[in-house]
Amino acid sequence: MEVTNTTEKSEKKSLNFIEQIVEADLKAGKNDGRLQTRFPPEPNGYLHIGHAKAICMDFGIAQKYGGVCNLRFDDTNPQKEDNEYVEAIKEDIEWLGFHWGNIYYASDYFQQLWDFAVRLIKEGKAYIDEQTSEQIAAQKGTPTEPGVESPYRNRPVEENLRLFELMNSGEVAEGAMVLRAKIDMANPNMHFRDPIIYRIINKEHHRTGTKWKAYPMYDFAHGQSDYFEGVTHSICTLEFVPHRPLYDYFIDELKEGKDLEDHRPHQYEFNRLNLTYTVMSKRKLLALVTEKLVDGWDDPRMPTVCGLRRRGYSPEAVRKFIDMIGYTKFDALNDYAMLEAAAREDLNARAIRVSAVLNPVKLIVTNYPEGQTEEMEAINNPENEADGMHTITFSRELWMERDDFMEEAPKKFFRMVPGKEVRLKNAYIVKCTGCKKDENGTITEIYCEYDPESKSGMAGANRKVKGTLHWVSANHCQKAEVRLYDRLFTVENPSADDRDFRELLNPDSLTVLPTCYVENFAAELPAQTYLQFQRIGYFKADTHSTPDHLVYNRTVGLKDTWSNQSKAQ
Ligand code: ATP
Ligand code: MG
Repeated sequence: MEVTNTTEKSEKKSLNFIEQIVEADLKAGKNDGRLQTRFPPEPNGYLHIGHAKAICMDFGIAQKYGGVCNLRFDDTNPQKEDNEYVEAIKEDIEWLGFHWGNIYYASDYFQQLWDFAVRLIKEGKAYIDEQTSEQIAAQKGTPTEPGVESPYRNRPVEENLRLFELMNSGEVAEGAMVLRAKIDMANPNMHFRDPIIYRIINKEHHRTGTKWKAYPMYDFAHGQSDYFEGVTHSICTLEFVPHRPLYDYFIDELKEGKDLEDHRPHQYEFNRLNLTYTVMSKRKLLALVTEKLVDGWDDPRMPTVCGLRRRGYSPEAVRKFIDMIGYTKFDALNDYAMLEAAAREDLNARAIRVSAVLNPVKLIVTNYPEGQTEEMEAINNPENEADGMHTITFSRELWMERDDFMEEAPKKFFRMVPGKEVRLKNAYIVKCTGCKKDENGTITEIYCEYDPESKSGMAGANRKVKGTLHWVSANHCQKAEVRLYDRLFTVENPSADDRDFRELLNPDSLTVLPTCYVENFAAELPAQTYLQFQRIGYFKADTHSTPDHLVYNRTVGLKDTWSNQSKAQ
């Protein structure tokens, strides 16, 4: 798959292909003018950015056209499902800014589905197969060669009914029997070759407990659930295209000769979201969590919705990204850099500007009186005047970035250099006078003199000084831990790599800076505030940050240094 940087450029006004279908259907008066969608997660993991794409479609289109989108938990496999996931999924959808009509569970339909299966058995359209899954798979044939019929295919209805009950009794081992729809072992669509529709799972279900032992397969639950609920447009991802005829087949069976005309759900498919340098498979994400290769589902490096939230993404940034990539009928691999670009664009408008020094070294303003302080005004957000100003304090002892000083600097280094002038943001112009080093040659202090007439806004401030540096006053700041994040994987498309995904993890995906300083104002802001550390990037307080141990996560740097780096390599 090629990485795409281009977007479908929905040109804002033009409709995506699903919107076109919905508009046409509404215009034609199909479904009595009703629009009903659903978002159908399986509660077996946390939502990721791919799900966000599906959510923006399912909820977004209902919202746009005055329909309703319900949340349906597709909980037909108790092996990996859990209430923890149900709750997390609800939280994430709400955070993204969407509202469901009803909450449904596929497990609410277990009795209806069972009755439907019994009916199919009675009509000679389903049978119990006692072969192993390997035998069944071996008989499937290939798309060009017909399959082989199971020796159990023509057993009597009564026996099928008895065995189906037995499947649900708890007396039969998992895998010993399955119920298969009797359709067509030669059908060119492999999904029609007597698909398995029920299997035994001896595990307690998070909602129905031990009531059921036989559970319906996806293809025997999804379309039927859509039908029971009155879904009109069942939107999913492209891998379900070959399932669509079976989806329609079971609805035809279910309607029992009723003439539904247009009053039936239809399935439509769009391209999945795949992102570079990460994985989207729940199985792999779960492994990262359980093997403690990351710090939980909400580790800020994870592509999960809660991970992005903890990292400092806003819901608007996520939605902006989804909007940028659009919906098509072709699979693609989207560039992670686009997600970051969306975040920068959104956070630029939203973030409160503060000062923080991540790699600190002392800066002494030698001609500034000891013990004196001065309060200055700083603009909170140049993009939004309504965000106002806040006060910063200037004093004799400051923290500045170690990287902002060079004893002997190249010409273009417009920062702190002995003999040269530089502006301290929102404060004075200072001239560097030297530095002090310890026995190892490490710089321990930098010295400068300030020009009292050069305070921002004063007449003396007018002379041209090329560099402006950020700083915090040593007695008016808080110590903080800052966490910098990089790509979780070292290769562009880990899913297409032959190596185990664990081997592809980026060992440098997390850098912890234990001793940073943030200005007091930043530390006092509510934890959910989106911040810009000036000249550095966008940051947000970590969920585990406390007043005694402040922790900030870097959401994204100010510039896309990463793709420049990779180009240079
Ligand atoms: P599983 O591997 O457990 O089947 P899944 O990713 O398919 O995982 P579901 O909970 O079944 O997860 O997905 C819910 C909905 O989200 C489905 O409609 C699915 O098509 C959609 N979805 C899942 N992954 C993506 C993705 N990467 N891009 C877009 N939509 C997705
Ligand atoms: Mg799925």
